[in-house]
Amino acid sequence: MKIGVLGAGQLGQMMALSGYPLSNRFTFFDTTGNPSADIGHTISDPNGQQLSSFLSQVDIVTYEFEHLPIELVKQVASKKPLYPGVEALGVCQNREAEKSLFDRLHIPVAQYRIVESAPELAEACDELMQQGAKAVVAKSITEGYDGKGQAVIRASEEAADAWQRIGHSRLIVESFVDFVREVSIIAVRSRSGDVAFYPLAENHHVEGILRYSLAPLPDITEAVQQQAERYIHQLLDSLDYVGVLTLELFQCADGRLLANEMAPRVHNSGHWTQNGAVTSQFENHLRAIQGLPLGSTKATAPTCMINIIGKMGDAESLLRLDGVHLHLYGKDERPGRKLGHINVVADDLPSLLEKVRLISTFLPQAPEPLFYCDSSY
Ligand code: AMP
Repeated sequence: MKIGVLGAGQLGQMMALSGYPLSNRFTFFDTTGNPSADIGHTISDPNGQQLSSFLSQVDIVTYEFEHLPIELVKQVASKKPLYPGVEALGVCQNREAEKSLFDRLHIPVAQYRIVESAPELAEACDELMQQGAKAVVAKSITEGYDGKGQAVIRASEEAADAWQRIGHSRLIVESFVDFVREVSIIAVRSRSGDVAFYPLAENHHVEGILRYSLAPLPDITEAVQQQAERYIHQLLDSLDYVGVLTLELFQCADGRLLANEMAPRVHNSGHWTQNGAVTSQFENHLRAIQGLPLGSTKATAPTCMINIIGKMGDAESLLRLDGVHLHLYGKDERPGRKLGHINVVADDLPSLLEKVRLISTFLPQAPEPLFYCDSSY
């Protein structure tokens, strides 16, 4: 099958790498003018002039990037099967719509307010703090990713400055969640409605950018895993979703999960599945959208994904280590840029953590790898 992908970054590239053995071939449609996928055929077309040509080259269309012009995506869906559908994309592009969906499905979230001015932002800060929040997080309703378009506010006097810095006309303000860790669940739903769930991963962010994901987690009870599965299953069914969906959650000290946000695509916190699960998230996404049976989502070994950010580091030393898999995206070094990732697998958690600590010393500016699932944390 010829697969069209909206977006042309590393997620699309890795999707294609897993699709070649299934005899899939790929055409990417880039709307940013800055494509990086270096496999298959890429049409870079920020003005949407070549959409018909793109559509004539593909059987079905998916996406690897959610900040796409919705009108363009609707046009695509009117001409070719599009998975996941327009509704899922629309919800995930808008934090307000996303939170409303969580509310409708009774999926718990941090308390929040919607505001449209600096004074309203200050008022919402006071209100949420009176209800017990130590701080609040203001986020743009649209276009935010990797911590961009956000500000943590500790007192309502900081609201005017935060409003100015974010520079949007409508914000969502959330209570700052005093979580013990961030986790994510990735699930996949097929065209016939079959669903499979990957085990929860523990995620570490620095300045909004994911640095480490570790899975499976030895300290997640069956009940917490099943709770996360129930939440994402409800989302998948309510959106009649086809493909891989990611739900990011905060885990509180009492084990409770609060939904943060979702992504209608393969996700950085699922890269560990390339080397640590029977079927990777990329292959399962492709299976799902083509109406093929889903592959097992079982973890095969304790695995940690380590992002390579900004600077490459010592690749040769990394490759000398047992259990290390290097995935580079072919990008030039630039501060804050995701250049690639490492998946490291081990027989057990202590040896995995030891390897992760060693690997972090080969990567410039890698944060100290500290995991909640490590009892010595
Ligand atoms: P987001 O773009 O919503 O995923 O936010 C990026 C990161 O900011 C998250 O991964 C968290 O580390 C942090 N964050 C976002 N919202 C909250 C919140 N309500 N409470 C605490 N931390 C948050």
